[in-house]
Amino acid sequence: MSKNGDDFNDKKNIEKNDDNKVKPDVFCYLCKRPESVVGKMIQIPNHIHICTDCMQKTFNIMNNGDNPYMNLVGISPVMFNMGETTKAEALKAKDNKEPSEEFDHKKLPSPHVIKASLDEYIIGQEHAKKVISVAVYNHYKRISRWAPKNVEIEKSNMLMIGPTGSGKTYLVKTLAKLLDVPLAITDATSLTEAGYIGDDVESVISKLLQAAGNDVKKAERGIVFIDEIDKIAKKRNTNSRDVSGESVQQGLLKLLEGSDVEVPVGASSKNAMVPLKTINTENILFICGGAFPDLDKIIKARLNKQSSIGFQADLKDKYDNDENILQKVTLDDLREYGMIPEFLGRLPILFTLEGLNRDMLVKVLEEPRNAILKQYKSLLAMDEVDLSFEREALEAIADKALEKKTGARALRAILEEIMLDIMYEIPKDDNIGRVRITKDFIEGRGVPIIELRGMPKHKNSAISN
Ligand code: ADP
Repeated sequence: MSKNGDDFNDKKNIEKNDDNKVKPDVFCYLCKRPESVVGKMIQIPNHIHICTDCMQKTFNIMNNGDNPYMNLVGISPVMFNMGETTKAEALKAKDNKEPSEEFDHKKLPSPHVIKASLDEYIIGQEHAKKVISVAVYNHYKRISRWAPKNVEIEKSNMLMIGPTGSGKTYLVKTLAKLLDVPLAITDATSLTEAGYIGDDVESVISKLLQAAGNDVKKAERGIVFIDEIDKIAKKRNTNSRDVSGESVQQGLLKLLEGSDVEVPVGASSKNAMVPLKTINTENILFICGGAFPDLDKIIKARLNKQSSIGFQADLKDKYDNDENILQKVTLDDLREYGMIPEFLGRLPILFTLEGLNRDMLVKVLEEPRNAILKQYKSLLAMDEVDLSFEREALEAIADKALEKKTGARALRAILEEIMLDIMYEIPKDDNIGRVRITKDFIEGRGVPIIELRGMPKHKNSAISN
């Protein structure tokens, strides 16, 4: 006997079908076409049928990101939480898609929308986020099919200066993800003049082609980030050939400006066995970044020299304690640092990032969408344990990070060390319901506060360290 009404009705239908020899037609829930027309359909719960055409269309819309705002509301293919197989299939389908010949900037979000999305991930750096949002928007306008034919818009290649761990790489990575464009990140220290040991400058384009899944058109609209650009400053007082400094700057000139480059497909170096593809770099956005240590001294020296001349001469040490000294950088300072004028000329957008202070580091810990604390909290929440940090504990972590002088980079390492015991011990005991991290625990003087399930809050016990 059937257990419920539905089974019973189904059975009745089948019996009727057997009698009449007519199969009932089912209709696609989306396009309303019958199975007799569209072929076998996929059935999902609640007796809903979907034809394969509609299923495919839905996946294409989700994965091709035809609507740029989709990326910004957090459902870009990279962020969208599909099952692994579906994700792989979707990415494959995406790779097979013919890239459109002409780029339409109207599909891009406007600068304030880009900035708002960056705000979700990057703490502080208001000026940098604003500059980069506008520059990227203008860059893609320049290569849009609506770009004026009679005015040549200059490329928006950028040079960003900021201390280690201030978010330079993170800014570029987040941007590329939001815009869904391929990104290649290279370290300038690994580059040398062609023919010497190291990678020649064209290897960055090879990386970009790889990031674009070997799709030339996509790569030609990608972003290349060259980190540690200060390391290719002209060497001073050297008699030997400067193969990793000035020569690399010279080598990059052509790429930054726009030229055809032949790069190997699926390999990092050219040889007779690998096919080559020609990439035009004219529409590739180049972003260079570096910490430029000691640049502040050059800026200070210039400012002190200027201010000590004339009737309004200032105190000689006026700029010695200026925290925002890097923001006063000029092209002359960078030239003095060892960057050649032609190179700087091809990076028209220059901006700086500020070093992260204690408050900013605390925010980095807890505010971004993928903040480290949120990650730990959700890991423990899966064991139904509530993890919390006292404010002073967060400040103590920030202080420890400041000591290391590597900006936000130090945070993860510090937290991982602190959390190791907790992540090890907590799953052992099912009775633990809450863990509170205190300042004393961070500073090695105490233990975290543990609360057991179903116990009043004041009955605390502590985990041994
Ligand atoms: P760098 O300036 O040296 O390139 P990164 O961008 O590599 O620094 O930063 C290292 C890590 O620190 C990033 O992955 C990110 O998690 C974090 N971080 C750095 N700066 C910020 C910031 N301003 N906001 C949020 N997280 C940041």
